[in-house]
Amino acid sequence: MILAHLTWPEIEALDRNIPVLIPTGAIEQHGAHLPLITDTLVVTRVAEAVEKALPGDVLVTPTIWHGASHHHLPFAGTLSAAMGTYQTTLTDVVEAMVGHGFHKFLVVNGHGGNIDPNKVALRALKAAKPNLFLAHATYIDFWPQALLDECLTGRIKGIRHACEAETSLMMHLAPELVRADKLRDDGLEPDGGFLGVIANFDEVTENGSFGEATRGTAATGQKLFDSAVAGATEWVRQARAGVSFVSL
Ligand SMILES: [Zn+2]
Repeated sequence: MILAHLTWPEIEALDRNIPVLIPTGAIEQHGAHLPLITDTLVVTRVAEAVEKALPGDVLVTPTIWHGASHHHLPFAGTLSAAMGTYQTTLTDVVEAMVGHGFHKFLVVNGHGGNIDPNKVALRALKAAKPNLFLAHATYIDFWPQALLDECLTGRIKGIRHACEAETSLMMHLAPELVRADKLRDDGLEPDGGFLGVIANFDEVTENGSFGEATRGTAATGQKLFDSAVAGATEWVRQARAGVSFVSL
C-alpha cells in the first residue's frame, strides 16, 4: 500500500504489524550525464516495486528527498539537509507513524550520504523506544558481489557515484533523463587515494561523477534493479512475517 494514496480511515483500519517502508533519497548533482533526482528516482522505483510484489503487506511512505548532501554542494543545484535537519525529518516521520500505532520500520536508502545519519537517527529512536523494530539498508546492500563481478565491465566492481552501476540503473529506469552525449569517466585518479578521508566531490572529481559511466548499459541496469527489488522484497517479507534479531 502507498501511504499517500490512502485515506485516514483506511490507514486506521490497517494491521499495525505491517512494516512501514521509508525510502530515503537526495536531490544532488550526478555529474553532467545524470539528473539531480537520480537517487530519489531509483530508490522510489525500488520501493514501488516492493509494494507491487507485496500488496497489502507493506506500507510505503513518500520518499524523503531532502538528503544529506553537503559534500555535493559545490556543484550547482544540489539541495542538502544538514545532518541534524535530515535526522530530525526521518525521526519525525517514524514518530508520527509510531503515534498512529505502527512499530515496524524499514528504511530503504538510495544515497550514500544518508547512511550515517539514517543509522544515527534509528539508533536514537531505538534508545528512546526499545519496542520498535527498526532496520536500514541501502538498495545496493542487496546486490550479491557475484552479480556485480558478472555485470560490471569496468575495474570498479561496485557502486560509486554516477558510475557504471548507477548510470546503468538510470538507463534502464529513465533513459530519457540520461544525457548520453555527456557520459564520461571521472574521479579515478589517483588510483586508491587516501584511506578514510572525508572529502567533498569537487576535491576528488572534475565533473562530479565518480566511476566508469561510459560503460553503463540499460541491460546491466535491469539486472541490478531486479536484484535490488528481489532483495528488498525478501527483506520486507521477513519483517512482515516476524524476524529474529540476527545482527547488530
Ligand atoms: Zn546517486
